[in-house]
Amino acid sequence: MSNEQSNITDFNINLICEYFSNVQRQGPGSPEATRQAYAFLDHLPEFPRIADIGCGTGGQTMVLASLTSGHITGMDLFPRFIELFQQNAAHLGLQDRVQGVVASMEQLPFEPNSLDLIWCEGAIYNIGFQRGLAEWKPFLKDGGYLAVTEASWFTPQRPAEIHDFWMDAYPEMDTIPNKVAQMQQAGYVPVATFIIPETCWTDHFFAPQVPAQELFLKKYAGVKAAEDLVAYMRHEARLYAQYKEYYGYVFYIGKKI
Ligand code: SAH
Repeated sequence: MSNEQSNITDFNINLICEYFSNVQRQGPGSPEATRQAYAFLDHLPEFPRIADIGCGTGGQTMVLASLTSGHITGMDLFPRFIELFQQNAAHLGLQDRVQGVVASMEQLPFEPNSLDLIWCEGAIYNIGFQRGLAEWKPFLKDGGYLAVTEASWFTPQRPAEIHDFWMDAYPEMDTIPNKVAQMQQAGYVPVATFIIPETCWTDHFFAPQVPAQELFLKKYAGVKAAEDLVAYMRHEARLYAQYKEYYGYVFYIGKKI
């Protein structure tokens, strides 16, 4: 990669970070969906050790914190998200047991067999579903849980436009039964699987972006990378409205054996 290209890439990453710093969630999800998934976890210790991988600014982490008395480490690759995460935790008085760290999901900063629960909403695609399940498992205690959301197909076939869009964005996208089979093959008991409601996309993910897009376009008027980013996100929202019966985000909850 030439220097010029890597500068452009850095600039784009900074823009993407700034864009998503202005909204509460960086992926589809909702407090209700987080609570619903947590309700499937049986026999957690009173003070579980939890990792929230790809936590972003901590939208779902703060909900998790309200459900447990345990210690949660939120981790994300981007320092700006972790800065906002720490502010959100402090604002809620959670800083003693909810901490953010900058780290990569490809090299988790935990001891083997040390976690009761690995949480990951809308982020495992960055490492890939199968690779994440395999590489994160050693960090869980025996009997520990993994709860992740993953974009999945609802039907065996789907229209070419949406198929091609997702295969380009995330080639590992697959049907729900195939993902459950992968979870089992990776050595987890598939405890529960549910499709998160449409409102997780519409109300909690796309709607807050609308005013953020207006401000962003004003601030970066004439900056092509910024205009392209907004155009891409608007396109994604339009595709979702058109094809939502064919795909969505699914919570996969597994128990390490
Ligand atoms: N869990 C949040 C954010 C989801 S967006 C929510 O649901 O709102 C995906 C997140 O993964 C982003 O915050 C992004 O910065 C983070 N991410 C991307 N690559 C990563 C990596 N290699 N390691 C850790 N986090 C990563």
